[in-house]
Amino acid sequence: MISLHVLGAGGAVPTASHGPAAYWVEIDGNGILMDPGPGALVRLVRQPGAPDSVDEVVTVLFSHLHLDHTADLAPLLFAMHSILAREQAPLRLIGPVGLEAFVAGLRALYGSWLDPRCREIEILETPAGNRVDLSGGGRAEAFAASHVESRFGASCLGWILTDGDGHRLVYSGDTGPCADLDRAADGCDLLLAECSTPDDLATDGHLCPTRVADLARNARPARVVLTHMYPLVAGQDPQRTVTDLAGVSCAAARDGDVFVVPHETESST
Ligand SMILES: [Zn+2]
Repeated sequence: MISLHVLGAGGAVPTASHGPAAYWVEIDGNGILMDPGPGALVRLVRQPGAPDSVDEVVTVLFSHLHLDHTADLAPLLFAMHSILAREQAPLRLIGPVGLEAFVAGLRALYGSWLDPRCREIEILETPAGNRVDLSGGGRAEAFAASHVESRFGASCLGWILTDGDGHRLVYSGDTGPCADLDRAADGCDLLLAECSTPDDLATDGHLCPTRVADLARNARPARVVLTHMYPLVAGQDPQRTVTDLAGVSCAAARDGDVFVVPHETESST
């Protein structure tokens, strides 16, 4: 079973209902913090059913290294440097090639303040196509997204998260339409798709409602959840466009929403 807690359903511009990217994903009970954008830690500890201490985070998964998907990594490491930190399990950081240089850059800025007090950091750079077994259960497979490359030569990824029964949550990351995303989403249980703009402001490297509908019409996911919505599209009705054009179940996420794979849906807000 996979539980997706949407901690941030927005892009880089936060609103009261749509904070920057952040997700807590439980795969067969194994928790992962995915894309810790600005404010992720506060929203994590406030989220019912998620850890109430950042000390409990053992795996962080990154789609790419842009600010709206990574900004709370430094605060996470700083919290783990605190004398209050108790957890001794290694902290695993999993993300695109370039992640090591990114963390080294943060260290150059903040020094030993980012050294967890009683745990090691393991950094796993994952090229597209690679698969990672997650400690505690489930696996994550990276695929290439079509987005503006970060510094550090880093690539941009999407993720296929699979539980022990073969259920798949596919996270687009930030991306424009691309064949790898089409393949990853094919027949999945839940497609967590970015939807940054309305159709009339569609831009390279991002999706809009009709682009998500095109994707869903071919891939036939059991359910689509729209995320990474900037205020202009969040204020419209993007899920209706996807449902009408693609004939699939679609929800537009808000911060705090919980989606369970394979079936029920509930909202904590
Ligand atoms: Zn983004």
